[in-house]
Amino acid sequence: MHLERILHAQGFGSRKNCRILIRHHAVTVNGEPCDNPFADFDTDKLAFTVNEEPWEYREKAYLMLNKPANYECSHKPQHHPSVFALLPHPLLERGVQCIGRLDEDTTGLILLSDDGQFIHRMSSPKWKVPKIYEVGAKHAVDADQIRQLQEGVQLVDEPAPIAALACEQISDQVLHLTLAEGKYHQVKRMLAAVGNRVESLKRIRIGELVLPDDLAEGQWRWLTESELASLN
Ligand code: URA
Repeated sequence: MHLERILHAQGFGSRKNCRILIRHHAVTVNGEPCDNPFADFDTDKLAFTVNEEPWEYREKAYLMLNKPANYECSHKPQHHPSVFALLPHPLLERGVQCIGRLDEDTTGLILLSDDGQFIHRMSSPKWKVPKIYEVGAKHAVDADQIRQLQEGVQLVDEPAPIAALACEQISDQVLHLTLAEGKYHQVKRMLAAVGNRVESLKRIRIGELVLPDDLAEGQWRWLTESELASLN
């Protein structure tokens, strides 16, 4: 593929812009400077830099982000900055979207992609991959609350009670709650329904994908091939 097309596909602006970048010596490919926009490269395992920033060619983008509190999963945030402000510009140009939303005060694992089919499939209610949340509760959680969360609680506007797939007590006020669905404020509403209240909420796992310890809040990274395969 021509270098100009490669850069364009990776989110570096219009073809004309990419041509200008290349002609202005801003680009290296596999370690060598290249100022010819029409130089042809095999995109398989292609590493390039733009203004000294390293990139790898990816036909589609699949990434994870450790969302900090006080960020909104929206392109038009109302009260706080958008999580998209945590991503480099080329990923935004590519149209990367959040897969499911976390509330502004929720932290932890969120997936993003520019693959429309993938986003659609993963956002569908039919996609029952378990999501695990670490819940900090306002009051000590008792055995009856755990039983109710596991057997099902009735939420306003829901036709039937919703049960957690699992509910593990970690300490007096901390639970690991596993949910199959991703309904609006689901964890907060479920805790409220059993007479408790969420004080802190962090998503720590989606399916087999665990939020890595070394991914600090606000950081993102590409999914590995095996991580991606585990979601399919
Ligand atoms: N449940 C909630 O209440 N909030 C979230 O952000 C995610 C799940």
